[in-house]
Amino acid sequence: MVYKNFIAGSWADGNDATRNINPSDTNDVIAEFARGSAEDVDRAVEAARTAFPAWSRSTPQRRHDILKRASDEVITRADELGRILSREEGKTLAEGIGEATRAGQVLGFFAGECLRTGGESIPSVRPGVGVEVTREGVGVVGLITPWNFPIAIPAWKIAPALAWGNCVVFKPADLVPHSAWMLTDILVRAGLPEGVLNLVMGRGSVVGERMVSHPGIDAVSFTGSVSTGRRIAAGCVGSQPMKKIQMEMGGKNPFVVLDDADLDVAVEAALNGAFYSTGQRCTASSRLIVTEGIHDRFIEALSQRMTALRVGNALDEATQIGPVVDQSQLDTDLEYLERGQSDGAHLFAGGGQPRVNTPGYYFAPALFTEVKSDMAIAREEIFGPIASVIRVRDYDEALAVANDTDFGLSAGIATTSLKHAADFRRNAEAGMVMVNLPTAGVDYHVPFGGRKGSSYGPREQGAYAREFYSTVKTGYTAH
Ligand code: NAD
Repeated sequence: MVYKNFIAGSWADGNDATRNINPSDTNDVIAEFARGSAEDVDRAVEAARTAFPAWSRSTPQRRHDILKRASDEVITRADELGRILSREEGKTLAEGIGEATRAGQVLGFFAGECLRTGGESIPSVRPGVGVEVTREGVGVVGLITPWNFPIAIPAWKIAPALAWGNCVVFKPADLVPHSAWMLTDILVRAGLPEGVLNLVMGRGSVVGERMVSHPGIDAVSFTGSVSTGRRIAAGCVGSQPMKKIQMEMGGKNPFVVLDDADLDVAVEAALNGAFYSTGQRCTASSRLIVTEGIHDRFIEALSQRMTALRVGNALDEATQIGPVVDQSQLDTDLEYLERGQSDGAHLFAGGGQPRVNTPGYYFAPALFTEVKSDMAIAREEIFGPIASVIRVRDYDEALAVANDTDFGLSAGIATTSLKHAADFRRNAEAGMVMVNLPTAGVDYHVPFGGRKGSSYGPREQGAYAREFYSTVKTGYTAH
């Protein structure tokens, strides 16, 4: 079976199709998925532009009801959707089901947001004049998503886009089309009019590039790597008209452990942050910055927990760490394992390719110690289950090392000191700060995003999503 694109209200064949392979078992071909062309993007944009006037003026109740129906269906089918997700991406079943549930919750939140759109009435500085500040949809938005959250990220872009009356051209990552297809199918059946949501699966270099250059797209929200983000941002600003942009990119997130930390809390948070979801989270704790007094106890306890994690087939209930997503990511992880050692870090535990009884891209979580802040493993985003421990003297050095990075998405600290927790919350150069919690794992009703090389443009999620998905109009009326 070939799963089709959804363009202008109907399912459409592509010129080409790609096979979707299960990373836990490369003999398992999930299905074939259409690969769209530049012409498919053109048709999708035209349909979206045609739909925009009516959709953007539809009642909040109508938009609410559609998003609510989709939310209910995603939550009801979370087990099935989670299994589909885990099969194509490789995160564990529990993580896949959790992510599907989250996507449903996000849709539910933005159903509510449809009913919370309002404006401001402001007295003018001139007599006899009234001022009204209102928000409108931006127009046609292009949404480009990565493979590591195959349903949650699409949901947290599509839902606010629709809530604010925008029409959408959605391009998921090539590796995870099934989750994107399922989400689109659910939203369409929830009652979206023709042209409001278009799914164009396919290559970034074909479908993505056309979206970036297309004059009919008003805004692009992207999540993915820094290099792709930079290229898309330049393309959007260089196109006519200039497009509004929102870029969520990489991370190299620090997790500081101070001498006064509760060891169990610190180890649990580091284990989760560094290795769960196979380390393939933009918010993963890849740098563990540990003060001298607790250093040896911390690495001993963490490595014991880490080496006990069960690496295996994502669809096996007992698995705690699924495979990495594909051969290229596996090669990257293996290269960094070598690079860390040749740069002088100590591979304290783990690493390598464990034997699992299905052929897949398996990699054992790895812990490096004696890492220096200028080593490649401490500076570059690996996007795998590899954590680097950097030993520091005290809190001040820990903070300096935490901020010694080109990225700024999430930062965490384990401490029982209110003073240090408060100081870290204020001075960590990151969009999100966690105290005694993993750097990964966030709420859906509050802003998500980072600073420095991690993000560009307005935040995603929660009520703040409106900064990107709506545009402000200031209306003056003479009385
Ligand atoms: P990627 O940059 O390779 O691809 C992301 C998307 O961009 C895909 O849909 C891809 O097809 C598309 N694309 C590629 N080239 C393009 C082009 N020239 N024009 C238009 N579109 C193009 O990223 P990935 O490997 O899918 O995802 C992993 C990356 O995503 C990591 O760096 C990770 O940190 C990041 N990420 C960031 C966040 C965040 O919110 N900050 C969340 C999740 C993932």
